[in-house]
Amino acid sequence: MLRELAAGERRVALTPDVTARLAGTGMVVLVQSGAGSAAWFPDEAYAAAGASVVDRGAVYAGSDVIVCVRPPGDSERLREGQALVGLLNPLADPGLARRLAEAKVTGVSLDLLPRTLSRAQSMDALTSQANVAGYKAALVAADAYGGYFPMLMTAAGTTRPARVLVLGAGVAGLQAIATCRRLGAQVTGYDVRAAARADIASTGAAVLDLAVPTAEGEAGYARELSDAEARAQQAALDAATAGFDAVITTAQVPGRRPPRLVTADALAAMRPGSVVVDLAASEPGGNVEGSAPGQHVVTDRGVTVIGAGNLPAAVPAAASTAYARNIAALLGHLIRDGALAVDPADEIDAGVVVTHDGDVVQPQVRGLVEEDRS
Ligand code: NAD
Repeated sequence: MLRELAAGERRVALTPDVTARLAGTGMVVLVQSGAGSAAWFPDEAYAAAGASVVDRGAVYAGSDVIVCVRPPGDSERLREGQALVGLLNPLADPGLARRLAEAKVTGVSLDLLPRTLSRAQSMDALTSQANVAGYKAALVAADAYGGYFPMLMTAAGTTRPARVLVLGAGVAGLQAIATCRRLGAQVTGYDVRAAARADIASTGAAVLDLAVPTAEGEAGYARELSDAEARAQQAALDAATAGFDAVITTAQVPGRRPPRLVTADALAAMRPGSVVVDLAASEPGGNVEGSAPGQHVVTDRGVTVIGAGNLPAAVPAAASTAYARNIAALLGHLIRDGALAVDPADEIDAGVVVTHDGDVVQPQVRGLVEEDRS
């Protein structure tokens, strides 16, 4: 296992607990020295769990399977026959897949797992990390807000609870709703999917009714709204947003730019001191007009807009613990008779194995690599 090199990345792919489990199955585990320190897992804990703590070169030289959170910046050090397992994000970076295939490295990406298969649930790193992100988004919003989230009755008087709106109630949104409720806020949620609206109601939060139709897509995801639907939703949302002290947005549509849900007009109508946290903030734009990943801006009207960066990395022990379990479950599936064996007929393998035997084998990624070449 490698130490993560990306700036601000504090997660680690294996925890000492999971290391002990893997070592117990007969695997030899090599851990780069310092790999877990930013998540508060010291080298000694890995050594006590049965790992050999070595330098980076020794991990590259001595491993058949290398696990990581994000793709290592020095992946050219991988050699033929090795496997790299992590959140490789090949749909955004097909170039990495092309390079891994050329080097005859087997690339396995947890972000392409077929998430609706019940036997794959323990391997679902998108879900485990979205849970962490939703939890942390609630804390970030509460921290930036100048008031209390709960109703407090003290000798100095009673404070009303903060009103929080969560837009997008998938994995991250539902966790943000639950966490804001635990903090005592009065929470309202909204989603375009009917199932997500039922999920919001089941947490005890209010469901915002914008009187716009639902928009179910494939595999439990939302579809992109038509222009007319998006305009209707926008007008209703602009009117609703102003009444909230904090808004957390998590809306995504697979393969599309995140939908714009909070416009500059809506921000201008919010009270000074309100907070907006955009979990969908990305380079091409997020759910909130003007948000950017990792940026914290205060508008002229005193509204704090926070473009969430890598929130799971800000809760490194919990995020790594869940991720390491996902990795162990996936390795348990892929390692057959002591070696990583790819079965193209298996639905999990067909989803996550991106490159194998010198080819880009994952159909979606293969399409992107071919587009790049043409
Ligand atoms: P996501 O990150 O793609 O999107 C987050 C939410 O944004 C979704 O709920 C989506 O409906 C919503 N959204 C999209 N456009 C919107 C708009 N214009 N306005 C408001 N909301 C909008 O989703 P996710 O959290 O990764 O999960 C989506 C679904 O996949 C959920 O139903 C989840 O339960 C399901 N899922 C299923 C499994 C499983 O079956 N094992 C595992 C993981 C996820």
